[in-house]
Order: sequence, then C-alpha cells, then structure tokens
Amino acid sequence: MLKKKIIKILIGTNNKGKLKEIKDLLPKTIKTYSTTDFKLKSPAENGKSFKANSLLKSKYFSKKTSLICISDDSGLEIDCLDKKPGIFSARWAGAKGDFKKAIKRVYRELNKKDKHWKKKKIKARFVCALSICYFDRVIASVIGKIEGSISTNARGKNGFGYDPIFIPKNKKKTFGEMKSSNKYRIDHRSIAFKKIKKFL
Ligand code: IMP
Repeated sequence: MLKKKIIKILIGTNNKGKLKEIKDLLPKTIKTYSTTDFKLKSPAENGKSFKANSLLKSKYFSKKTSLICISDDSGLEIDCLDKKPGIFSARWAGAKGDFKKAIKRVYRELNKKDKHWKKKKIKARFVCALSICYFDRVIASVIGKIEGSISTNARGKNGFGYDPIFIPKNKKKTFGEMKSSNKYRIDHRSIAFKKIKKFL
C-alpha cells in the first residue's frame, strides 16, 4: 500500500466528460494532468471486465508519462439482456458517440427479448471501475455500483450517455432529469471515489 498521499496524478481518459467529472471529484490539492497534455491516444480496451479495462488504461498511461495515473471504465448493465451493453456501453453509441442511437438499441433489444417488457421492472445498474497505477504497480482498484431500472422512454436532457433511461432505485426521476449535483452525490463514480479516498 502507498504510504504517502498522492500529490500529482494523470487523469487517464480521452473522454472530456469523464475528465471533468474525475477532476471535480479529486481533492483540489492534487495537481492533475490530462492525456492531451502529453498528446496520448487511448489503448485498445480489450479487457473482459470493467476492472480489467480500467487497469489496462491506468498502467498504459502511467508507463507513457512516468506519472501515477487514475483511469475509470464504466457502463450500464441490464439484467435481462445478459448484462449488456456492459463493457460495450460506449461502443453501442458508434464511432461518433451517438447516444440516441445507443438508447434506441437498448429499446430494440428489450422489445426483441420480451414484447411486454414495459409492464415489468427492468433491473439495471451503472458500474464504475476505478484504478490507480504506477507503471505496472496497482495502488488501488475499486468498483462502484448504483442499482436501478430502465425507464419506458428516454426522459431529461441532463448528464450524458444512458442517463435519460436510468432510474436509480427508490427514485422517480431518471438521471437525465436530475440536477447533475444530485446525480453526482449518488452515482457509481462517486461510490467508487469514496472507496479510494484514503489514497488521495
Ligand atoms: P468507457 O468507460 O470509456 O468505456 O465508456 C463508458 C460508457 O458507459 C460511456 O460512454 C457511457 O455510455 C456509459 N456511462 C458510464 N457512466 C455513465 C453515466 O454516469 N451516465 C450515463 N452513461 C454512462
């Protein structure tokens, strides 16, 4: 385990939304660097789990920069679709990151699976794997999850990705309808962050 607190860190992502969210969650006392500071492309995400992909990105970017690196890998699991889109959540949106398309695919797959799905609770969860590595050394690797269900139609313009179709357990609004500050308080990323707080 790391004895000293981390004072500088590379945020290992080329996704601008994630860069902002991770930066906001890190203590302001830590100096942060981004992959664009080093003009780095992302590695192929060929791991078989969220954890494997977050470790792979964190180790890769650390080796490229000789900095401690934090990377996340996240996505949506829908139980009756055998946990799809899962690690393919970003890929369902295609090369252009079109999430209207990804959401349409979710509804298409649900209709294929069960014509009456709208009458049932479609259990789902967002998962976030967060890893901090220094070269091949794993300083921390944790998982955060938030349980919920899929709404019968897309609702709300806030957030990103699958937010308009995800209703967290015991809430009525989708993430897309919630104020982002309310989402951040309960979401998978903040749950994962709480688990690595002691290293920061
Ligand atoms: P990756 O971790 O870069 O492979 O991409 C994760 C993908 O999962 C994102 O592009 C979104 O589609 C989805 N995702 C992860 N977290 C969230 C979230 O908080 N809201 C909505 N979609 C999310």
